[in-house]
Amino acid sequence: MTIFKDKQYFRVNLEKEADEALWLRCKSCGELVFKKRVRENNNICPNCGEYFFLTARERIESLIDEESFEDVSKPIVADDPLGFQDEKPYPQRLEEAQEKTGLPSAIILASASISKIPVVIGVMEFQFIGGSMGSVMGEQICHGMEEAIERRCPFVLVSSSGGARMQEGAFALLQMVKTTAVRARLAKERLPFISVMTYPTTGGVQASIASLGDIIIAEKGAMIGFAGRRVIKETIAEELPKNFQTEAFALEHGMIDRVARREELRSELAAVLGFFQEGTR
Ligand SMILES: [Zn+2]
Repeated sequence: MTIFKDKQYFRVNLEKEADEALWLRCKSCGELVFKKRVRENNNICPNCGEYFFLTARERIESLIDEESFEDVSKPIVADDPLGFQDEKPYPQRLEEAQEKTGLPSAIILASASISKIPVVIGVMEFQFIGGSMGSVMGEQICHGMEEAIERRCPFVLVSSSGGARMQEGAFALLQMVKTTAVRARLAKERLPFISVMTYPTTGGVQASIASLGDIIIAEKGAMIGFAGRRVIKETIAEELPKNFQTEAFALEHGMIDRVARREELRSELAAVLGFFQEGTR
């Protein structure tokens, strides 16, 4: 099952959204802003500069060269190995997430170019069960890195995830074994892995793959961490700094390499990719 074969996919979605409300209220400044204007502005409030949430599609559109999108994801969807049920059965949760996002899983995987440099890029969809990593996402990320090896190009991963998918229990946690092994192969092939952390990049996703980039760029306003603030605070019984788990804190403590504003992310990526390309000549 391949949902987005070509650019048609994006057009269909934009048309669908055009029917929805024309205005939205900015939570930060309280102003009513024209939705189209916000969209054209990378989902940044034209009035106060606040970042609105980006879907995976909007994010990938904002980063890659126009017309360069080619879906390279594997045609797989999640199974329910544990027969898991919380408020609702896991299969129902999956169906609802697919319906809501129009995606088969919580990640879009594409071959594309950024500033004419070919890449394989994965972008997580937070609205799909919190962008959580289960067996399918782990498999797609591994497949993405294998595609990058096949195509001899860099791998770019844009994370937006709360962590491992609890509905898959240990199967979700096991993804780390796969992703780190394939990531090591990518390194052995001397192909760069650029990790982009956005709001939020936490838990099992941060641990399993996002923190393993050769270069790690965080979007301004990203939340970066493993366990939740409250859990850490109670475990170590100490007050945490105010900016704990912010992108600024992560940069200060050497966990990431760069912080970029959303509007600069594309050029920042192009610069880093260009640097690696120079290095291979
Ligand atoms: Zn605003």
